[in-house]
Amino acid sequence: MRVLIIEDEPGIANFLKEGLEEECFAVDVASNGREGLSMALSSDYDLLIVDWLLPGLSGVEVCRQFRKECSQVPVIFLTAKDTLDDVVFGLESGANDYIKKPFAFEELLARIRVQLRSSFSGNPLLQAGGVKMNLAAHMVSCNGKEVSLTPKEFALLEYLLRNKGNVCTRSRIIEHVWDIHFDADTSVIDVYVNFLRKKLDVSGCTDLIETVRGIGYVIRGE
Ligand code: CA
Repeated sequence: MRVLIIEDEPGIANFLKEGLEEECFAVDVASNGREGLSMALSSDYDLLIVDWLLPGLSGVEVCRQFRKECSQVPVIFLTAKDTLDDVVFGLESGANDYIKKPFAFEELLARIRVQLRSSFSGNPLLQAGGVKMNLAAHMVSCNGKEVSLTPKEFALLEYLLRNKGNVCTRSRIIEHVWDIHFDADTSVIDVYVNFLRKKLDVSGCTDLIETVRGIGYVIRGE
């Protein structure tokens, strides 16, 4: 899952980026409202985290303009404001949730997971074939045996499982699993799919990830 953080305080932005990358998210950061809005509109993010007070364009304005183009992607506000009027104003601008600064990372992470659950199929447990992925516990098992994955392997498997039954093109996989610094060499996806297949094969979950020649990959099955 790919997240855009629009936050002008470098300390908070870096803290969030590092924390979310440890949780296997691909993360981009914008440090002002205009840059953030343009990034949000030009890439296919799964979630936006937007600071309220930003140079260039306020978080509320970013959210309002983003919503004109994109109604689905969840937006969470970071705000030092906490009066009822401010909260209502923020939510009316199109945000899905907000969290007050200072906040605990774990709370933000829990709120992110709630938003991603509701924007996808609503299940914290993803599965196909003998593979089960528990997003909250960050665990993958294959026929009941735990499989150890790197963060990128985990993120790739999560994306394919979330889109179970649908072919994921290489470009969509890049958009959702890698961040903006990715150098656009799509063969790296094939390399990671092979890593994943080997680990799943060893645990007895063979042929889970199908290649769709010239297009990308798909996970089928129940
Ligand atoms: Ca700020």
